[in-house]
Amino acid sequence: MNDQTRIVMDKVEGETGSLVFPIYQSSAFQLPKGEKFRYSRENNPSVEALCEKINELEGSEAGNCFSSGMGAVTTTLLSLISPGKTVLVQRDIFARSYIFITQFLKNWGVNVLVADPGTDSILKFRDHDVDLIFIESITNPTLRVTDIERIRSSFPRGKTIIVTDATFATPVLQKPLSLGSDLVLHSLSKFMSGHNDVIGGYVGGRKDLMTLIDQNRRMLGPSMDPNTAFLVNRGMKTLFVRMRQAGNTAFSIAEKIAGIDGVKVVHYPMLENHPDFLRYGEMLDGEPAIVSFELDLSRVDPQKFMSSLTLILPANTLGGLSTTITHPPTMSHRTLSEDERNRAGIKPGIMRLSVGLESEDDLLSDLKNAISKSFIT
Ligand code: PLP
Repeated sequence: MNDQTRIVMDKVEGETGSLVFPIYQSSAFQLPKGEKFRYSRENNPSVEALCEKINELEGSEAGNCFSSGMGAVTTTLLSLISPGKTVLVQRDIFARSYIFITQFLKNWGVNVLVADPGTDSILKFRDHDVDLIFIESITNPTLRVTDIERIRSSFPRGKTIIVTDATFATPVLQKPLSLGSDLVLHSLSKFMSGHNDVIGGYVGGRKDLMTLIDQNRRMLGPSMDPNTAFLVNRGMKTLFVRMRQAGNTAFSIAEKIAGIDGVKVVHYPMLENHPDFLRYGEMLDGEPAIVSFELDLSRVDPQKFMSSLTLILPANTLGGLSTTITHPPTMSHRTLSEDERNRAGIKPGIMRLSVGLESEDDLLSDLKNAISKSFIT
């Protein structure tokens, strides 16, 4: 069955004739009938139905949902890594994941190797004993596209576990497991749910690894609640339509803002100036819905720019129906030092635009007007 068909279908059992999978808002289940689910921190039918749907989309042997994307990141790493093991992480990823690995896990006794932006920088570590590689398939916020197949061929399965955070790509643009990743991870708070109204996470892939992760999820407790599972499933039904439409608008905006006075560089993999332009088409099936661009700070004030926007919402998130904008140095990546941001390619004037479903003309005129109001006089 095609993914686009699968995503709108709910496998509803029972005699009610309900069209959609219901919310089982129950903390526990009566024994002996409720033996399969017992207690909702451990297992819940609404959450299980969502996980199974994402498992099918991603091709996961097994998978679990979490109370947040960070719940998925931390539980996965705490389950697969212990003191003395070695983790290789990209420098240019979501700051909380980066800090969890380079500070929390490092303080815990894990050896941490950090790769500069780009797949080649990861491959430089091919002669090291690496237990786990943590990557983002489209990085946050410079949109580098990571070549999972090349990484897999340099780091054999059985020796190195590859964990891919595919929050920016979603299964619409990429299936990391089919490219050689052992696990795929999502913040469901973003494009997957798509309405800026829930926080959730998912990780899935190899069954042997998921068994360890699931045991720890049950114990550490970052489990998803049934209400959230319902909302994520409802939002996900339009994932393909949203991603294609927003990706289309994002590509067009990326091409057009490159020529606006006050914009220095546009980071978008389908533009020729992007370092991953040549390989982009082989790795992703469609256009990302995020565009990052750098304002010329000698002429434009980024804070004034954000406060001059009237349609686009300044917010610490992405992936919703409404277009949002983030200034990573003062928002999503503020916890990194300036030196770390520079090495990750996150320049002081960078803006991350998450394109929603508004009209392209309205979005472009909002961006243009706000830039013209923010020139330093
Ligand atoms: N991964 C990426 C790429 C993200 O952008 C985020 C959050 O912005 C996370 C993980 C964490 O997800 P959550 O906010 O759901 O904990």
